[in-house]
Amino acid sequence: MSARASVIPVFVPHLGCPQQCVFCDQRRISGQLRPAGAEDVHRIVREAGPPRPGQRRELAFYGGSFTAIPEDRQLELLEAARQERDRGQIQALRLSTRPDAVDKTVLDRLRQYGVETIELGVQSMDDRVLALSGRGHTAAQARKAAGLVRESGFRLILQMMTGLPGDTGAESLETARKLIGLQPDGVRIYPTVILRGTALEELWHQGRYHEHSVDDAVALCARILPLFQEAGIPVIRLGLNPTEDLSGGEAVGGAYDPALGERVLSRIWLEKARSLLAAVPPGSRVVLAVPEKKLSQAIGQRRCNLRSLEEEFSLQKLRIRPEKNLSSEISLISVEKSGEIS
Ligand code: SF4
Repeated sequence: MSARASVIPVFVPHLGCPQQCVFCDQRRISGQLRPAGAEDVHRIVREAGPPRPGQRRELAFYGGSFTAIPEDRQLELLEAARQERDRGQIQALRLSTRPDAVDKTVLDRLRQYGVETIELGVQSMDDRVLALSGRGHTAAQARKAAGLVRESGFRLILQMMTGLPGDTGAESLETARKLIGLQPDGVRIYPTVILRGTALEELWHQGRYHEHSVDDAVALCARILPLFQEAGIPVIRLGLNPTEDLSGGEAVGGAYDPALGERVLSRIWLEKARSLLAAVPPGSRVVLAVPEKKLSQAIGQRRCNLRSLEEEFSLQKLRIRPEKNLSSEISLISVEKSGEIS
């Protein structure tokens, strides 16, 4: 995660969406039943309290296809946000929308109202996956929209999903590579969650969709995340934001885990440790060192990394210890077998 402004979200669930994507129910995701209007914008900002000195706050329209909302409604919301900006309650504006609802006229209007960041829901760069997910746009439209947003001087955030219908994992990896080529300022990765009442739930019950489990998502995202990191592109979110609704049973299957991001980071440490242990003889007592702040990630939830490495490499004992000034990310400190230390 990168350092960011504090965000005040204003949800407009499904407003502007030309059709229903099979996996989506923004009312359950946001926990809000009704799209916000101008009065809600003012109320939500009021309820957020005054900004702290020096604090930069962004108002964000999330949960719908903002630029596909009928123009008068868009203007009503943008005008309310502009009034809050003029009063100094917020400093910037961001919104999320669909790739096929972006053109030069739309972007000119957003700039006039002080929008700085545009998030595009790309979800996949594979046309077959997009079609099976009911997205209603193509990868070519996403590529074109991303280019337009960047050329027009907005910050560009791209959203992708893993585990969509027809995606075997290879498509997600290819999507990540293609998103890197679009040079976004950041990405969000949302492994697919099966929400109650969605078309995806029905496909799942009919056996026509194979669930993307938490473990599947952790393993795949542990390969995707380093691609973005190596390209210097911040991943600003991994996994759906936990809500009471989702945790209370509205997420009926798929990759819902409030600690998903942590689990992915932990899996990446596991893979790094595996490559160091590959040449270690079975029965050894091994000490690895990791940077102090990364110790809990490296050990894993309930010490799962330690246990699985000990078992996989038949180690007598594995210890991962914290080091304050470690230059490399993970180091092999000692391997002891039959009284020998190397
Ligand atoms: S994913 Fe986006 S475009 Fe699709 S239904 Fe949900 S909010 Fe609308």
